[in-house]
Amino acid sequence: MDTTLDRREFFIDGEWAKPATEATAEVIEAATETVLGTSASATEADIDSAVAAARRALPAWRALSPTDRAEHLDRFAAALRTRAKQTAALTSRENGMPISLSVNVNGYAPSLMVGYYANAVRGSERDEVRPSAFGGRTVVRRDPVGVVAAITPWNYPQSLAAMKLAPALAAGCTVVLKPAPETALDAYVFADAAVEAGLPPGVLNIVPGGRETGAYLVEHPGIDKVAFTGSTPAGRAIGEVCGRLLRPVTLELGGKSASIVAADADLEVFAAQLLEVSLVNNGQTCHASTRILAPRSRYDEVVEAVTETVRCLRIGDPLDRETEIGPLVSAAQRDRVLGYIEAGRWAGYRVTTGGGAPAGRPTGWYVEPTVFEGVHNNARIAQEEIFGPVLTITPYDGEADAIEIANDSQYGLGGTVWTTDEERGLAIADRIHSGTVGINHYQLDLDAPFGGVKASGLGRELGPEGLAPYYCAKSVYFATR
Ligand code: NAD
Repeated sequence: MDTTLDRREFFIDGEWAKPATEATAEVIEAATETVLGTSASATEADIDSAVAAARRALPAWRALSPTDRAEHLDRFAAALRTRAKQTAALTSRENGMPISLSVNVNGYAPSLMVGYYANAVRGSERDEVRPSAFGGRTVVRRDPVGVVAAITPWNYPQSLAAMKLAPALAAGCTVVLKPAPETALDAYVFADAAVEAGLPPGVLNIVPGGRETGAYLVEHPGIDKVAFTGSTPAGRAIGEVCGRLLRPVTLELGGKSASIVAADADLEVFAAQLLEVSLVNNGQTCHASTRILAPRSRYDEVVEAVTETVRCLRIGDPLDRETEIGPLVSAAQRDRVLGYIEAGRWAGYRVTTGGGAPAGRPTGWYVEPTVFEGVHNNARIAQEEIFGPVLTITPYDGEADAIEIANDSQYGLGGTVWTTDEERGLAIADRIHSGTVGINHYQLDLDAPFGGVKASGLGRELGPEGLAPYYCAKSVYFATR
C-alpha cells in the first residue's frame, strides 16, 4: 500500500485543474499520526472556476432526458463500485473508521446511492399535465434547481457526499463538492470514477478546502442550492446566509439521541447491537444513540449489560477486520472527547468502564469506549454532542418519564426503542421528537428519508424525499381551446 498519496490538483470541468495558489493541506493518518497524503486546498479563485464550470455544464445536463442521465449515472456507479475496497481502506486510514464498517459505508454505499437515484428518475416524465379547476390545463414542469454546493464532513465522507451528488445529478443539477480537509483524499475517488464513466465535463466538480472556502462557496452568486452535512454551529451559520440570500438549503447536523430500554426489553438483543447503534464509527456518528435510558426496575441489569459489552470491544488498527473501535479522526477530536470525559468525572458521575486513552497505544488518537452511569439528563455529557465513544446511562420512572427525558434535548435526529412488543415500540417512537427512530435496531434505509428536527437540521436525504429538494416546480397555464 502507498505510504503517501498526493492529490495536488482539483477536478474542474472534467479535467485535473491546477490550483490558483500553492495552498495545500496534509491529510494525517488517524492510526499512525503520519502524513498519508497532501491535497490541493481551494481558494476563492478555485471556487470561482468550479462554479463557472458547473454553470456552463448545466444547460446540456438538464436538457438530457432523465433516462439518458440515468445511463450516465449507471456507468458512474459501476466505476465507484470497482474502486469500493480501495476507497474503504483509504477512508479508514484518513478517519480511523473500522474497515468492517468502511467497506459498506465508504466502499459500496456510494455506488448503491447513485444506482438508486438513477433508477428513481429513469423513464420519469418532466411534465405532468393537470386539468385546471378553472378551465384549461396546467403543465407542471419539474426543473432541476440548478448548481448545487455540496459540503461534507469527515466522519462518513463517501456516503454523505453521495447522498447529495446522486440525487442532484439525477435531477439534472450540476454539483460543486467541497469535502472536509481531514478526508480530502477519498473525495478524489468520485473524480476518478467520473472520468472513467465519461460524465460530461463540469457536471461534477471537486474542490477540497477549509471552512472559509466552504463559506465562500455557500455565498457564491453562481450557486442555486446548498446541501450541507456537519456540525450544528456551522449549519446555523450556513442557514443564516441562505436565509438572507433566499437560497434553498438542506442541513444535516448534530445529534444526541436516546436509547429507550423499555421494561420488557430483551437485553441480549440490546447488548448485541450496542456497538452498531451507539458506538458506530468510534462514536463519531451523528445519529448514535449515546444516551441510554434505563427503567429503574432493571437499572442494575442495564448498567451491567452495557458495561460488559463495552469493556469487551476490540480496540485496534482500523484496517484490521477484527477491530471494533479505531482511533478518532484527529488529535483535536481526541482531546475534545477526553475533555468531556473529564467534565463527566468532575461533575461526579461514575465511570463503569473506559475513561481515558487506552494503555499500550502511544500512537494514534485512540479513546477507550467509556460508560458513565447515574447521569442526570441535564449534565453536559448528556446534553452536548461528544462525537466519540462515550455513553451515558440515566434511570427513568415509567414510559412518560423516558419519553420526556428523550425529548429533553436540543437535538432530534435519531433514537432507538428496545422492547419485545413492536406495537409498544411504535407508540413510543411516535412520541419521540426526532426525524428517525429504530426499534430493536437502527439502520438507515436507502429508500427512506433521513434527517433531523430542532438543532439536528432541516430537510431530508435518501428516499424519494431526498430527490425532491433538487427540483423546482414551474406551472405553465394553458387557456381552454
Ligand atoms: P464541521 O461543521 O466543522 O465541518 C463540516 C464541513 O463544513 C467541512 O467540509 C467544513 O470545512 C465545512 N464548514 C465548516 N464551517 C463552514 C461554514 N461556516 N460554511 C461553509 N462550510 C463550512 O463539522 P465536522 O466537525 O467536520 O463534522 C462533525 C459534525 O457533523 C458533527 O456535529 C456531526 O453530528 C455532524 N454530522 C451530521 C450528520 C447528519 O446527517 N445529521 C452526519 C454526519 C455528521
